[in-house]
Amino acid sequence: MAKRDYYEVLGVGKNATPEELKKAYRKLALQYHPDRNPGDKEAEEKFKEAAEAYDVLSDPDKKARYDQYGHAGVDGNYGAQGMSMDDIFSQFGSLFGDLFGGRGFGGFSGFGGFGGGAEGPRAVQKGSNLRIKVKLTLEEIDQGVEKKIKVNKFVPCKSCNGTGDQGGVTETCSHCHGRGIVTETRRSILGMMQTQKQCPYCGGSGKTVKNKCHDCHGDGIVKSEEIITINIPAGVSDGMQLAQRGQGNAAPRGGINGDLIIVVEEQPHELFERQENNLYYNAFITIAEAALGALIEIPTLRGKVRVKIDQGTPSGKVLRLKGKGLPSVNGYGRGDLLVQVNVWVPKSVNKEEKAILEELSKHPNFQPNPTKQERGFFDKMKDLFN
Ligand SMILES: [Zn+2]
Ligand SMILES: [Zn+2]
Repeated sequence: MAKRDYYEVLGVGKNATPEELKKAYRKLALQYHPDRNPGDKEAEEKFKEAAEAYDVLSDPDKKARYDQYGHAGVDGNYGAQGMSMDDIFSQFGSLFGDLFGGRGFGGFSGFGGFGGGAEGPRAVQKGSNLRIKVKLTLEEIDQGVEKKIKVNKFVPCKSCNGTGDQGGVTETCSHCHGRGIVTETRRSILGMMQTQKQCPYCGGSGKTVKNKCHDCHGDGIVKSEEIITINIPAGVSDGMQLAQRGQGNAAPRGGINGDLIIVVEEQPHELFERQENNLYYNAFITIAEAALGALIEIPTLRGKVRVKIDQGTPSGKVLRLKGKGLPSVNGYGRGDLLVQVNVWVPKSVNKEEKAILEELSKHPNFQPNPTKQERGFFDKMKDLFN
């Protein structure tokens, strides 16, 4: 089947504002949300289709490519099967999470095992994922760092031990017999159809409570501010996501915890610029140091090092300090620190300095006399990047 136009999918015009896009997407996401349409493959496809359309149209770069080239402009990275349900939950869950009982996106896993009839496995309820941005300096990225972060999340209620019942007593849901899902049989043109959905009586937990706990109103979970310690490995980069399994929101009345997704936010450094694992630094030397040679101090992420400047070093020369960049995140090897040496030209001079410079510029060695290589514009640029 041909792919539908993204604007058509969301039902918006080409000039829709970000707010309009968000609104249109929220509406569809809620309509086709898997918690509302358990086991419904068509709804799942619509849910994915809407997420894909929103993913492209809400991103100015992707939107521009889509507007110009259509699906071909974005298909390479965002094919029909490009986004998994997990991707959608973690990427857009927060957009409509508040409409699901203030509990973020109740990611509902376990559908894969459906269809086994009465003996089929019980649906496992999963708490929603949490996403947290963590700001890191290059120094922290260089060494790897342990961070304590404050997280506001759902945890099992202590008063009722997460059962939701005052006395800690739960009963097997009589409606679904503890399976958490119910089967509905209905007639269709194809004959009798069986669909399975989350049990409306127990919310999918398979258990019902006798006397609702006052603290959690029977949900078995409460909001709590927790301090979580996370270990960030060395070499991470901006935008990287680290999933901490089971550190997200707890699920109501038992079930599996969601995940905590750490999103790395690299802070700009005062001295260095980063490109992959290499660092770049601009050093400034005097004209005397450039002409005569010198030992200069260069900062690195791990303290200063002394670097020899050769006699006759031209301005713009790039020195490579092997292994003084960042470690690679997979643990193999390190990048380099590339130092561009710039000869400092004074912005203004006094009378005495002027006289010295005028005297110097009369001497033969101070007349520009570049080699063929020094004249080449692009060769020099290449040097910078090799
Ligand atoms: Zn409770
Ligand atoms: Zn039930």
